[in-house]
Amino acid sequence: MSEFDVIVVGAGPAGSSAAIKMASQGLKVLLVERGDPVGSKNVSGGILWGNDLASIIPDWEKSAPLERYVERKVTSFLTTDSEIAIDFKTKKFQEKKTGYSVLRTRLDSFLARKAAQAGAMVVTGVTVDSLAMKDGRVIGVVNEGETITADCVILAEGPNPRVAMAAGLVGKPNDRTVGIGVKHVYKLGENVINERFNLRGNAGFAGEYVLSFLEGDVYAGGFLYTNKDTVSMGVVINMATLRKNGNTHSFDIMEKFAQHPFISSLVEGGQLQEYSAHFVYEGGYEDMPRAYGNGYMLVGDTAGFSFSNGMILQGMNYAISSGILAGEAAIEARKDNDFSAESLSRYQKKLDNSPAVLDKKNFQGISNVVWSPMVHRAMPALLESSLYSMLYESGNPKKHLSQIMMKSLKSSGMSSKDLMLQGYRLMRRM
Ligand SMILES: Cc1cc2nc3c(=O)[nH]c(=O)nc-3n(C[C@H](O)[C@H](O)[C@H](O)COP(=O)(O)OP(=O)(O)OC[C@H]3O[C@@H](n4cnc5c(N)ncnc54)[C@H](O)[C@@H]3O)c2cc1C
Repeated sequence: MSEFDVIVVGAGPAGSSAAIKMASQGLKVLLVERGDPVGSKNVSGGILWGNDLASIIPDWEKSAPLERYVERKVTSFLTTDSEIAIDFKTKKFQEKKTGYSVLRTRLDSFLARKAAQAGAMVVTGVTVDSLAMKDGRVIGVVNEGETITADCVILAEGPNPRVAMAAGLVGKPNDRTVGIGVKHVYKLGENVINERFNLRGNAGFAGEYVLSFLEGDVYAGGFLYTNKDTVSMGVVINMATLRKNGNTHSFDIMEKFAQHPFISSLVEGGQLQEYSAHFVYEGGYEDMPRAYGNGYMLVGDTAGFSFSNGMILQGMNYAISSGILAGEAAIEARKDNDFSAESLSRYQKKLDNSPAVLDKKNFQGISNVVWSPMVHRAMPALLESSLYSMLYESGNPKKHLSQIMMKSLKSSGMSSKDLMLQGYRLMRRM
């Protein structure tokens, strides 16, 4: 007889959500987290999108440590001299709140506390070294040579899943499947934030930027999110292009973003409170591993669920929803007293009909288009020079839009055929 029904490795949003779901249905659950406190090793931008928590924490919008709801969303190209942005604010964001800024140490601690309240045993500061195996099935986990047994193990290790990798359940991270995220949190004070970002009450600002001003051909995106009295700001760097530009360091890119005049003015006077770096999972549908096997399931980033289409970076919501679905599958498997691969394949079936998998499937290949010279160099250059010619009075005779576009296109180094082709690819994938 095993010591636990299920052991969950990792108390990020995926692991804690699975633990809450299972423990609240009476399963004997152990949630093991290497960080102490929970969340201290975790990084997100971070906007928590969607309401996936509602099914396990019905009053989550009141009880969870949410900072501000997203009222204003800015998507922007940053060149050396200009910012070309879509600044989207709608009453719909106020009426139906779909995104909230969060700070991970607070959010993750809250979720782990909820798991403990539901009846899970939560152990922090303990790193699982490997899976315990017997006769081709997982029978528990190993920590410092000691085996703890369970009928099922849920691996929720995040984007660098050493335990799952060592057991051959997922591939090694590579330049295509992971990027690097670097993040700063600055304390600015509530009033300064409200004034600077034109906000009221608990309304918040979420800015996402294509960093077209970077030298060489390193591609990176930036983000800036308002919390109650702090601002989270960071970059997500494409690993393949970073590696090609060997002399560029991820921290330099963060500095360049922070020092861009249109960004530095937003955080001016802020006190640096937190500094972190983390892998960002960027693999596509084709990189997703099988999410179950004899005595185990994979959830969250470990199962390849982070998603980015260039406008949004989401992972926490999919982590939560995959954790809940794995929890459901474990509850059903417990009833059948069967944690074999066949029984746990019900988890994959649930996933296959969920946004977590469907979004991955429907946006296959998006990263090839997003991390491209078209998006990071040509398009911003074209927009910048066209807008400059159209919107400024030079004192010379005015030109038609088509003439301006053709001249700008020429100076951006793209042919009109390239532009149409790449634009078409982008629209198809978005
Ligand atoms: C810079 C950056 C910005 C991001 N911005 C956003 C955003 O704005 N919105 C969004 O939705 N997503 C965002 N993401 C993605 C999001 O953070 C992830 O998708 C999400 O955290 C995945 O959750 P998870 O529970 O699968 O893994 P994680 O959050 O990584 O949690 C894994 C947990 O497992 C623990 N662990 C790992 N190995 C072991 C072990 N062997 N033993 C014990 N414990 C272990 C870790 O300490 C950690 O607590 C961002 C990511 C980065 C890096």
